[in-house]
Order: sequence, then C-alpha cells, then structure tokens
Amino acid sequence: MDSKFKRILSLIVKYGIFVIAFPTLVIVILRCPYVIPFLACDLCPVVDCPSKYYRKPFIAFVIGYVVLFRKDFCAWVCPYGTLNDLVYKIRRKVSKISIKIPLELKLSFNILKYVVFAFVIIALLNGNPRYYVPIHTSDLVTSIKLAYLTGGDVYFARLYLILGALLLGVLIPRFWCRYLCPLGTTFQLIKKGFRRFKKCSKCGNYG
Ligand code: SF4
Ligand code: SF4
Repeated sequence: MDSKFKRILSLIVKYGIFVIAFPTLVIVILRCPYVIPFLACDLCPVVDCPSKYYRKPFIAFVIGYVVLFRKDFCAWVCPYGTLNDLVYKIRRKVSKISIKIPLELKLSFNILKYVVFAFVIIALLNGNPRYYVPIHTSDLVTSIKLAYLTGGDVYFARLYLILGALLLGVLIPRFWCRYLCPLGTTFQLIKKGFRRFKKCSKCGNYG
C-alpha cells in the first residue's frame, strides 16, 4: 500500500475513533464510579455510558487494527492520547513557546507515575472498588452535576488529577501519557522487559 495513502488512512482512523469515543471520554472522566474505568462495564450502573455496550466490539476492532496494521496503540488509536495531542497542537497554533521541564521536576513526575501505577495495582488487587454511587437522571448534564455534588474525596482526587494533567498537556506535550497514565506505564514496562530479554545480535547474550 502506498505510504501516503497509509498515513491518510491512519489519520482517518485516529481522529474517527476520537470523535466516536469523545462522549465516552467525557462520561468516564466525570462519572465513572470505578477506580479503574472500562474493567467492570458489564456491572456498571452508569447506563448512559457507551462503553457499557460497545467496549467489547471496540476492543476487538482495536486489537485487529493494531495487529494487522502494526500500529502503536498510544500514538494512533487511544482517544485520550489524541485529545492530549489536540490540546497541545491548538496551543502551539496560538503560541510557539516550548517549555523544558527541569531534571528534578522530571524525576518527581516519574516518581508520581509509579505512585499512580502502584495505586492502580492496589485497586486491582482489591477488586477495583466503586468509590461513589452514581445517580442517574434522564439528562446527562444533571447526572454530571449530581456526580459533582455527591462524589467524595476519591472522586475529586481522580477528577482533578485527570483535568490537571490535561491542562498541563497544553504546555507539555502528552503530559498525562508521559507521567500519569497507568496503561501507558504498563506498556512502557512491557517494552522495557522485552528489550531487556532480547538477544543481542552481536554477542548473542540476553539483557
Ligand atoms: S460503563 Fe461504567 S465502568 Fe465502564 S467506563 Fe463507563 S462509567 Fe466506567
Ligand atoms: S499513555 Fe494512556 S492515555 Fe496516553 S495514549 Fe497511551 S493509553 Fe492513551
């Protein structure tokens, strides 16, 4: 397949997924009652979340697409990664200033990344608890308002972490992806593990 055509197709898929998944992203950020979204959709009381109905076909599509077209999930599929790309690109259109993160701060962010990752592992070991009871009304905006009024500390901690990281993503490209996303950290660790055990083509040793 012609490489220009391939790139156009990849961009259509990337932004097409983003447009389709955007309502789900909004509901997940503002209303998902589980510490880790997308795992317990079948049991979830948030009946207006599209993930409840389309998660399985979506995952099947993503696996097929990533495998067949050899696409990196984070760069070419994940709608939240695309949202991070978009906020940064829009800001670059307004101002060309680029921010360099000092090394000490980078180290702190890297520590934060593993703190979030450890928190997610603990949540998984504890059965991915639900941390607030979502109240559903027929109107999405009212449902979101009620989540805001009834959500406890954990709800706000997660909300502010996600929105704060998205806001930082305006200045630092993919801030959430680089320093907070537990799925991204999992991918990174898997890649590092593979590299470590890859046989060296020159000496034949592993690691
Ligand atoms: S269906 Fe429920 S658990 Fe699944 S992502 Fe949506 S809000 Fe979260
Ligand atoms: S790091 Fe997380 S949010 Fe970012 S693109 Fe990857 S999976 Fe998506």
